[in-house]
Amino acid sequence: MSVFNLINQNSNLSNKIVAGLERLSQVFRILLWEKAKEHSLSPIQIQLLIFIQYHSADKTTVSYLAQEFNFTKPTISDAIKTLEQKNLIKKIADRNDTRSYTIQLTASGKKIVSATENFANPITEILTSATETDKLILWENISNLILLLNKQEIISVQRTCYNCTNYTMKNEKPYCNLLNQKLLSKDVRIDCEEFELA
Ligand code: SF4
Repeated sequence: MSVFNLINQNSNLSNKIVAGLERLSQVFRILLWEKAKEHSLSPIQIQLLIFIQYHSADKTTVSYLAQEFNFTKPTISDAIKTLEQKNLIKKIADRNDTRSYTIQLTASGKKIVSATENFANPITEILTSATETDKLILWENISNLILLLNKQEIISVQRTCYNCTNYTMKNEKPYCNLLNQKLLSKDVRIDCEEFELA
């Protein structure tokens, strides 16, 4: 049964939600393409630069990036090679294994990040004016959907509270042992710097 068959879609709320999510994924693609074109880069090259800017060195290896973005290692290696040729990144060789390296942005790479990282702003601006209750309901549903897709291994990497060793229950409420704070729905993270796989 396809959600893109309009009879199926319009007679079922779940199908309409899936079709709506697909439409939203197109919006992200379009917004990213616009920025990529402005800078003569591909969307994945922009995504790599933004990811590298905001994540620790251990998450900037080709293997990690391939898993994160669901691409093959050769595809990521090619993108990295182009970024290096454009002087937007530099490779830092691993002292113990010269075949391995992590990636850092150059000053020019950081400038590209500044110029492109706000590509999702049109969506942020719309959400900013929503009520806190509406945002909370949306967040609970999105974070839950991501968790379920991760369990089905459709989303490969998830640095979320639900998969983290620091996530526990205290007085029957979710709690983060590292930050020593309650984890209300609004506090749940989908990309946490302190995440440690449970
Ligand atoms: S360390 Fe981060 S991911 Fe882990 S439970 Fe705490 S807030 Fe969540």
